[in-house]
Amino acid sequence: YFTSDTVAFLDGEFVPAEQATCGVYAQSLHYGYAVFEGIRAYQTPAGTRIFKAEEHYERLHYSCKAVGLPLAYSVDELTRISYEVLERNNLTDAYIRPLVYAATPNMSLKAAASGNLLIAVWEWGKYLGDQLLRLTISPYERPNPKAVPIEAKVSGHYVNSIIASTEAKGRGYDEALLLDMHGYVAEGPGANFFFERNGELYTAPQGSILRGITRNTIIDLAREACITVHEQFFRPEELRTASAAFMTGTAAEVIGVASVDDVTFSTPFQQTIGGLLARHYQALVTGQPVRTESLEVRT
Ligand code: PMP
Repeated sequence: YFTSDTVAFLDGEFVPAEQATCGVYAQSLHYGYAVFEGIRAYQTPAGTRIFKAEEHYERLHYSCKAVGLPLAYSVDELTRISYEVLERNNLTDAYIRPLVYAATPNMSLKAAASGNLLIAVWEWGKYLGDQLLRLTISPYERPNPKAVPIEAKVSGHYVNSIIASTEAKGRGYDEALLLDMHGYVAEGPGANFFFERNGELYTAPQGSILRGITRNTIIDLAREACITVHEQFFRPEELRTASAAFMTGTAAEVIGVASVDDVTFSTPFQQTIGGLLARHYQALVTGQPVRTESLEVRT
């Protein structure tokens, strides 16, 4: 993630990443009390562009409010700083990781009086790889939205993600698919989930998922391509009626699903709606025209 040359932004200064450290008495470390974002910048014909910077930094503000962590920077300031961190590291295509945390030594369970801000950048390939995913329904559920603000990107929520993902890999799968507290399919540990049926898309509604910015983008791209999208609850059994599935996320981008447990999808990904939207997504983030003629491949 960093070398001796890497620069990070830490509490108002651009510093060598090696010096961006945090003490072991930090409240955030003990209680998972921090919020973060995952953002990508892409090389476009107009130069480096951070994709949906405003949406990501608005969600960071929302996450801070949800857990009572103060954030002293506006969306515009955060965006400007992010461009500068990219520039200082000579990065064009990169992942951006803002983290708001409480570095103050504090063992109380009281919301922090001030927040610290790190913005780190690194080159990162698609985080779930390029191969179609073999998913398994996780024995772990997504956190109950009445226990934690699940729509906020809170560091502590990712303990659930880590154990679910590790458990799935331990059983030989690529990634987990988690249900919500009522047994409906929610999302993956770090990505949203869609399935296809009769030329239409289905994805879990907001409420027990992270409202992914990629998910929103895919819904918009689908609707622009006249593909119906249903945001509705569905149970894992319904996947038996699906013809294809895919996951979406800033780090993962759009990645096809080969199977969910014993349910397998045989249409080549390129010929599915997910495959089509993955191409549209790549075009959009890299500032290329979205080619509507590729709609022909729709199944
Ligand atoms: N769900 C979870 C749990 C995630 O961690 C992520 C990644 N941020 C997503 C969904 C996808 O969100 P986005 O498209 O905004 O990256």
